[in-house]
Amino acid sequence: MTADFVPCTDADSEHFRTAIIATLGPASWEESQLERLIDAGATVFRLNFSHGDEASHARTLQRIRAVSKRLGVPIGVLGDLPGPKIRLTDVPQGGIELQTGGRVVFVRGLDRAEVGDDEIRLGCTIDNIVGDVQVGHRVLIDDGLVRLVARCLEGDRLVCEGEGPGRISSHKGVNLPDTDLDIEMPTDRDRRFASWAIEHGLDWVAMSFVRGADDVRSLDAHLRSCAGTEGRPIPIIAKMEVPQAIEQARLIVDEVDAVMVARGDLGVEMDLALVPSIQKHLLAVARDARIPCIVATQMLQSMVESPAPTRAEASDVANAIFDGADAVMLSGETAVGAWPVESVETMHRICRITESTMRSLSITTGGDLEAAASVDMGPLEALVDAAWTAALACDASCLVVPSRSGVHARHLSRNTFHLPVLSLADDARVVRRMLLLRGVTPVQVERMPDRASLVSVADGLVRQHGWAEDGETIVVVARDDEVDSGARIIVHRIGEGGF
Ligand code: ATP
Ligand code: MG
Ligand code: MG
Repeated sequence: MTADFVPCTDADSEHFRTAIIATLGPASWEESQLERLIDAGATVFRLNFSHGDEASHARTLQRIRAVSKRLGVPIGVLGDLPGPKIRLTDVPQGGIELQTGGRVVFVRGLDRAEVGDDEIRLGCTIDNIVGDVQVGHRVLIDDGLVRLVARCLEGDRLVCEGEGPGRISSHKGVNLPDTDLDIEMPTDRDRRFASWAIEHGLDWVAMSFVRGADDVRSLDAHLRSCAGTEGRPIPIIAKMEVPQAIEQARLIVDEVDAVMVARGDLGVEMDLALVPSIQKHLLAVARDARIPCIVATQMLQSMVESPAPTRAEASDVANAIFDGADAVMLSGETAVGAWPVESVETMHRICRITESTMRSLSITTGGDLEAAASVDMGPLEALVDAAWTAALACDASCLVVPSRSGVHARHLSRNTFHLPVLSLADDARVVRRMLLLRGVTPVQVERMPDRASLVSVADGLVRQHGWAEDGETIVVVARDDEVDSGARIIVHRIGEGGF
């Protein structure tokens, strides 16, 4: 029988598991706003290279670093590469109103939209739109809010007709779900911003419109050559937003460090009714591959204009967490919205209360030990699973892992037990990258010379966070090169010297 529902209050949830990513833009990129967003619960900021230039992103980055230093908290920065996204060029302030049946003409080389007597003339960032788009193909603007269909080609002009009313504004995206455009990936702009991201020490790059594993391998080769390193210099997040990527999901996850369910373009490129099912599928595929998954786009969309979200939006955020999302993301809500801080606060509250409910009702998302044991297990997975078994058997209050590259913490976070994981690293960059891991709280500490100091530092930090009191048990995973030799799982009782 279903247990009675006992509402969890915010105060019940002392440990916060889900990461909140906030996209920065004019509504949020000043220092005072950044500080408020961090106070409200944002741990990662997204710079969208589709908008703005290098100079404006450099200014924003400098402010993020300054605020992070002042507050003494690690803040991750994700650089989102635009991919071959077609965008409108400039549109006059206030936008242009389109009526049903209205005539819209794409003109090659036009850098500012014009309103004629009986037509709206638009320019866009690629010229092949005139030529590659065939009569009858759909042309969708602004995540499909403005729908056009191509009617005829007149020299350098592609003539379309509005299928419904809508407002057309500057730099909105254009999707051509019926047209096969031959574009090389990563694009020149992606390459430029990817090397910028490496130079500026960003923590992740997200690749838009990934079609398959080959696209990721090309970006990877570019990143390595920019950095002159053998290994990948910066983790790659694949944005899953086209049908080919959904088909190839299992191959893509083997090449990347995280995936993002990029629902904006996904819901335009594919039937919008499929988006929820695809989201659940991708969360499961990412969990199997033991990499984090971000759910993005329109999570609290109505908060662009309103100080409170709809009930459906609150449910959307909660359901992403119930399904095992590592991170939830805000886009326009924080980039251009009227209520950026309130959006983060609201999302944070929904995350905490949902996590608290999951804990008290022992709701898990499918990543149990049995399922984990059935996948290919190497020594790392075996160690991590043994640590979880020990933690559960000893009724431990939390797990502590020194994780020099973040890999151990990543594997430890791929479960659904409601125990905090404290991950320790000496490298600030590794600490920031671990911010994306569900349930993991990364802390920067110096390398420990031996196991006794590791346990004593763990003991102190766990108390400081209020996750365990005297006499309670914690489990510490100590790896060979962090301490002496051989990986060990240490069961430690808080407040007791030695072990
Ligand atoms: P993507 O497909 O990469 O998500 P997007 O156009 O949907 O691109 P978002 O980052 O989701 O962009 O942000 C939503 C809106 O916020 C954008 O349409 C844009 O109007 C605005 N925006 C985002 N970043 C910036 C920026 N740096 N400068 C100005 N406006 C921005
Ligand atoms: Mg978007
Ligand atoms: Mg996109």
